[in-house]
Amino acid sequence: MRETDETEDQETARTCPECDSENLVKDSDRGELICEDCGLVVEEEQIDPGPEWRAFNHQERQNKSRVGAPTTQTMHDKGLTTTIDWKDKDAYGRSISSKKRSQMHRLRKWQERIRTKDAGERNLQFALSEIDRMASALGVPRSVREVASVIYRRALKEDLIRGRSIEGVATSALYAACRKEGIPRSLEEISEVSRVERKEIGRTYRYISQELGLEMRPVDPKKYVPRFCSELQLSEEVQTKANEIIEKTAEEGLLSGKSPTGYAAAAIYAASLLCNEKKTQREVADVAQVTEVTIRNRYQEQIEAMGIHG
Ligand SMILES: [Zn+2]
Repeated sequence: MRETDETEDQETARTCPECDSENLVKDSDRGELICEDCGLVVEEEQIDPGPEWRAFNHQERQNKSRVGAPTTQTMHDKGLTTTIDWKDKDAYGRSISSKKRSQMHRLRKWQERIRTKDAGERNLQFALSEIDRMASALGVPRSVREVASVIYRRALKEDLIRGRSIEGVATSALYAACRKEGIPRSLEEISEVSRVERKEIGRTYRYISQELGLEMRPVDPKKYVPRFCSELQLSEEVQTKANEIIEKTAEEGLLSGKSPTGYAAAAIYAASLLCNEKKTQREVADVAQVTEVTIRNRYQEQIEAMGIHG
């Protein structure tokens, strides 16, 4: 029985499977459909995608990049340094000789440098502690935290934090690291432990991945199978079956434009039925953080493609 309110997945690739954004743009050079908000390649053409993806030229990127929340950077120097007045007057308001002026100019530049460096280091400490906090809340291994902090440091070095929130960049670095290490967390899961909204995470992630040349292909649903199955206490057999369903149906082109978490969830649900370890759609949906409607739709498509009759 099909429900009438199945609007969510009705039309393939109208919204981004990762962040639900409707800002999908076609990159004519590559024939790819790309999410403007999180950068996910929603649909790719089957011909050679080339080694590195660059959807926009620099100018376009500049124009399109949105400014995130104001940075939380605070510049307090605890009263230890005195700011030298920019008006080149001494404490009595008298003008200063040119020799003294250039001396003060140097001093002022030096002060500025120290203050920026201090702020940068404080911000880095804060960002790294945020990464640690979120990583432990997500239960991801040490290696992911390390990769995330490398990404964050690179972003800092390339001056990508400017105009964005530290929390946003830290979260995006962690999100990217999870994908990179092959233990992906969905934007939904990431945003639950983050101090920033999913939309901002998606946008910041897109920006830093483009600038740093990180991988932005969709995650292979099979990467979600071990974790979801273990949370559902399903056997190895179910895992193997789910992977088989994913592989076979992906070959048929069913995966294109679909959320990888929803896809994995449906395959796990189907596999649990086939292996007589039935879980309800609700149970699987809770673990994968997708809707039951999504599972139902993907499941129908998958079993049809596999020639199984549910
Ligand atoms: Zn997106």
